[in-house]
Amino acid sequence: MSVDVMTRPAVLILLGPPGAGKGTQARMLQDKFGLVQLSTGDLLRAAVAAGTPAGKQAKAVMEAGGLVSDDIVIAILNDRIAEQDCRNGVILDGFPRTTVQAKALDELLASTGQRINAAISLQVDDSAMVERISGRSTCAGCGEGYHDTFKPPKDGNSCQKCGSTELTRRADDTAETVAGRLEAYHAQTAPLISYYDAAGVLQSVDAMAEIDQVAGEMATVVKSVMN
Ligand code: ADP
Ligand code: ADP
Ligand code: ZN
Repeated sequence: MSVDVMTRPAVLILLGPPGAGKGTQARMLQDKFGLVQLSTGDLLRAAVAAGTPAGKQAKAVMEAGGLVSDDIVIAILNDRIAEQDCRNGVILDGFPRTTVQAKALDELLASTGQRINAAISLQVDDSAMVERISGRSTCAGCGEGYHDTFKPPKDGNSCQKCGSTELTRRADDTAETVAGRLEAYHAQTAPLISYYDAAGVLQSVDAMAEIDQVAGEMATVVKSVMN
């Protein structure tokens, strides 16, 4: 299928280490621009919970803070991006994470006549990531993200989006896994910053600022790269 140049769906990539704020910013961009957040982490956690063959293979690797195999992640992403709700555009949160995945994405987009509008690098200090990850929680009702210190639910213990009182912690969000996850990021994912720079689509934002300030910067970047 060829997509008309004027109406082709936007493709945004968020690059950054675990805890940089990709999910937080992706959800805000989703609401602001009518794009769909595709988080391979969320898709993999759903596969693990459902006990699918891919989920069974991914579980132990995820708990240890390693990267799931390219084949599994690419297959999951390809299936999800083909769904109807993605037709206005997507925000890729946590994908690609390796050069193999980036090349697979290039091929997929070439085959549908799409292109990457921007790969936005969220720039943070590694030293701040332990605190971000160890204070993270997620609403079981709607997936909204919270933080014990930086983004506590306004009324103490219920989600301000859906009202659920069930806020969960991820099994892999422990001080023990953070160092390994950051290492995997620097070895396998950070090279994608030069990959997308060479492709002419790299944008960078200072993600050490407060959430709303980062969101403002992200919105400016996104407006400047939309078709
Ligand atoms: P990622 O998806 O990159 O792993 P998240 O969006 O889940 O990161 O953010 C990690 C944690 O840090 C969450 O608890 C989130 O509420 C919090 N957080 C996100 N952005 C910021 C920020 N700019 N300043 C402080 N805390 C943040
Ligand atoms: P974070 O942003 O905190 O690293 P994610 O939810 O994006 O969390 O990912 C959680 C875990 O899922 C990763 O540590 C990794 O095991 C797996 N995962 C997610 N996306 C990918 C990917 N694109 N390639 C390989 N593994 C992935
Ligand atoms: Zn909620």
